[in-house]
Amino acid sequence: MITLGIDIGSTTSKCVLMKDGQEIIAASLRVGGLGTEGPAEALAELWEMSGLTADDVDRTIVTGYGRNKYEGADGEVSELTCHALGGRWVFPELRTLIDIGGQDAKIISLSESGRMSNFVMNDKCAAGTGRFLDVMANILRMDIDELDECASKSVKPASISSTCTVFAESEVISQLANGVARPDLVAGICESVASRVSALARRAGVVPKVCMSGGVAKNGAVRRALAKSLETDIDFDPMAQYFGAIGAALYAYRQLSK
Ligand code: ADP
Repeated sequence: MITLGIDIGSTTSKCVLMKDGQEIIAASLRVGGLGTEGPAEALAELWEMSGLTADDVDRTIVTGYGRNKYEGADGEVSELTCHALGGRWVFPELRTLIDIGGQDAKIISLSESGRMSNFVMNDKCAAGTGRFLDVMANILRMDIDELDECASKSVKPASISSTCTVFAESEVISQLANGVARPDLVAGICESVASRVSALARRAGVVPKVCMSGGVAKNGAVRRALAKSLETDIDFDPMAQYFGAIGAALYAYRQLSK
C-alpha cells in the first residue's frame, strides 16, 4: 500500500510517500506554506523523484497549519498526532518530542506505549520559534543553514536580553554596530531560542528519550544549547523536518490497515 503524508506548515510544505507504513519511498520539501504554491511544488517534486503519480496512492492525509484549506486529501489530522507518530517511528523509545517550526514551538510528551500524555505549545510569540532565527539571519545577511557553523566559532556568546523579537532585532543591530563578533551574536541568538523552548519543555516535563523535530532541529547550535539547558541528550535525525509528514503517511496506512 502506498500512502502520502502532506504537512503544510506556516513556512514550508513537506511531502512523504511511504510503502506499507514501513519504508519512505520519497520525501520532498518546498519553502512556502499555506497560501503559496509550496504544497503543489513539493508534490510535483515528489512525483518526479518517485516516478509515481497521484493514481498510485491509496490514501492521503494532510496535516499542519494549512491542513484545513487543502483540498485533495482523504482526511486531515492534527500536527500533534502526526509529529508524535513520526517521531516514534524514527525513535521507537521516544518519550519527549521538542518541535520547533516556523512560527510555533511544541513539546509533546509520550507514554511508554507511545500515547500522547501531555503537550505545551507556544504559538503567540515569535521568540523561541524559527521566525526569530529567520528575522535574525536576515539582519545578519546570512542563510538560515549557516547559523550553526557560525555559532560554533563563538568564544563568548552574546547575551540577548530582549524576549520580544522586535526589541531583540534592535538589540542585535546595536550589538553588531558596537563590534560584537558575528559568531558570538549568532551563538547568543541560538541560545535565546533554546532558553525560551527549554522553559516550555520544563513545564511539560522532560523524560528521556528526547528528540527534536521541525526545521529548527537542523540547527545544531540550538540543539546543543537546549541539551545543555535541559541537562539531557537530544537525538536528531536528518529527517526531523519531515516528522509531521511521516506521521501523516503512517496515519493513512493505519486507517487502511484497519
Ligand atoms: P513550519 O512547519 O511551521 O513551516 P518547519 O518545521 O518546516 O516549520 O520549520 C521551518 C523553520 O525551520 C524555518 O523558519 C527556519 O528557521 C528553520 N530552518 C529551515 N531549514 C533550516 C536549516 N537548514 N538550518 C536551520 N534552520 C532551518
